[in-house]
Amino acid sequence: MVKYPDFTMYPRVILKETLFKKSQQKRRTSPSNYKERIFVLNTQNLTYFEQRPGKKTTQKGCIELSNIKCVEIVRSDVPIPCDYKYPFQVAHDSYYLYVFAPDNDSRLKWVRALKEATQNNNLFLKYHPDFWVEGKWRCCHQTEKLATGCSEYYPNGAKPLPPTPDPTRRSSDPEDRIVVALRNFNPVEDTDLPLHKDEEYFVIDSSEPNWWTVRDKNGNVGTVPCIYIAEKISNNIDKFEWYNKDVNRTDAESLLMRENKDGGFMVRDSKHPGVYTVSIFSRVSGNDGEKYPLVKHYQIKVQREGEKVMYYLAEKYVFPTIPELIRYHQHNPAGLITRLRHCVSRNVTNPRIKELPSDKWEIHPDELTLSEELGSGQFGLVWKGSWNDLQVAVKTVREGFMSEEEFKEEAQVMMKLSHNKLVQLYGVVTQRSPIYLVFEFMENGCLTDFLRARKGSFSQEVLLGMCLDVSEGMAYLETSNFIHRDLAARNCLVSEDNVVKISDFGMTRFVLDDQYTSSYGSKFPVRWSSPEVIKFGKYSSKSDVWSFGVFMWEVYSEGRVPYDSRSNAEVVETLNAGQRLLRPRLCPQSVYELMQWSWKEKPEDRPSFALLLHELACLEQEP
Ligand code: ADP
Repeated sequence: MVKYPDFTMYPRVILKETLFKKSQQKRRTSPSNYKERIFVLNTQNLTYFEQRPGKKTTQKGCIELSNIKCVEIVRSDVPIPCDYKYPFQVAHDSYYLYVFAPDNDSRLKWVRALKEATQNNNLFLKYHPDFWVEGKWRCCHQTEKLATGCSEYYPNGAKPLPPTPDPTRRSSDPEDRIVVALRNFNPVEDTDLPLHKDEEYFVIDSSEPNWWTVRDKNGNVGTVPCIYIAEKISNNIDKFEWYNKDVNRTDAESLLMRENKDGGFMVRDSKHPGVYTVSIFSRVSGNDGEKYPLVKHYQIKVQREGEKVMYYLAEKYVFPTIPELIRYHQHNPAGLITRLRHCVSRNVTNPRIKELPSDKWEIHPDELTLSEELGSGQFGLVWKGSWNDLQVAVKTVREGFMSEEEFKEEAQVMMKLSHNKLVQLYGVVTQRSPIYLVFEFMENGCLTDFLRARKGSFSQEVLLGMCLDVSEGMAYLETSNFIHRDLAARNCLVSEDNVVKISDFGMTRFVLDDQYTSSYGSKFPVRWSSPEVIKFGKYSSKSDVWSFGVFMWEVYSEGRVPYDSRSNAEVVETLNAGQRLLRPRLCPQSVYELMQWSWKEKPEDRPSFALLLHELACLEQEP
């Protein structure tokens, strides 16, 4: 049996990121000095390292967490002469360390994590919200560096209300900014607004550094602590004709090609959540002088300037909103293949849903043509086929393998689940035996095979993209209150353009064979199952989260079997001993931390899919 190291001996890494730090000023008048450092927060220390090309990474400083007395955002309007503009402070021993994060999300993440890790320390009661600059505190003008702070320090974010906002003060871009609650918040004062984890809120006023005023979906307004929320990029663009929600790259290309108009364009959701893409059709000259049709895709880039968010397609042309950006490029190509001349819109929701009235879920066998065998699954043979000119995969179900009556009742619910990261169930043939399940066809087959066949060729970006695809589909299932129960790479399929989609959701409920359904059965997916599923058969979205952690492990180990050669019983033993899968070689620490979070013993300690999706999307935006 492989021996696993005793992880409890090592401090666990909580966060790691490149940030800037301001050097400790030895003399009052020495100029400030900003240095790029790799910061690592673990369960014992906050350490920073210097990394120079071609040189060994060297440790430049280490602060024991137990010596930290205050961690807080720095509220200041002094110009910051380094690239990262979001300062926070770590007061320890008799020093103040100023650290600069690239954006507000990163800063909140660090402040949150550090506060959590130091909450039981002997902390300051008061702190300085502004910088110590040139021999004095900018907030209270005291000239003694170790002078007691001038504002109360709230280590857990609970703070009395800020003064009532001046009604004449204009809030920045009201209603344009949406935040997502990272955890629940119970109001402390009457004017606070409760936060419900994963729900969205509109920002009304963000001028206070720690407490923002937000509005919930029912119109209630109140203040909330900033460290409990994260910003979501939104532009309210749904109402524009050029915006095509849920149109993927392939559909956009075929719509634009069909329209065949030079300068035909649309804005659509990118494969990555919260990101938009502009797809443009044009005819370009080939080497032979002929004109050839071409669709180009440009991602709308986001640039942050302080609190302000700006958008651009071509570097120099930056706009405060996406509609303004589009309006500009309707008149100027400015770096694009052509200017945006004709807006192309699909203007229907999901065509599959449209074609398929909800009561018509039974497909007549004559409408189906089966062509070749694709493989053999646990239910039976899987065929490639066509239905109404649509390529489909047809699963035939071995007689006696599935509770057909129960499945027929549930199939209607499953067909209504529709998301571009789920393999769509189009319909069923139940009038004869064996019954058929008709699914969207996925050209690149099962993800496990896909990973193994192309081992060694995946970039980290591609692997992260796969995890993001599946987290999107799972977040949708979570909000639909639907539990997958058997999430694993083998139950995900890969489309022609390499999008990973989730298949077989909820199907294990209809399997009659004990070997699959009992946790003692030889075919039970122990390696993907959470402790409460193994012990009590207790399924929930949080048990799906555990499986998702194992799924990410499979992706980053390019299709290896989790826990290798261990038997199911040995896997259970490993878990009972508190051990978990090790970090795959290709997996960055930040992603491994999400896996470890998904493998928390107690389901309530695991993140939701909404939060995992958010965290993965943040990682993707990091350079
Ligand atoms: P089961 O989940 O019943 O064990 P699978 O879904 O694994 O069966 O199907 C077996 C094989 O059939 C897969 O490995 C894959 O190659 C192929 N297959 C299944 N569904 C599809 C689909 N929608 N599109 C393309 N190929 C598919």
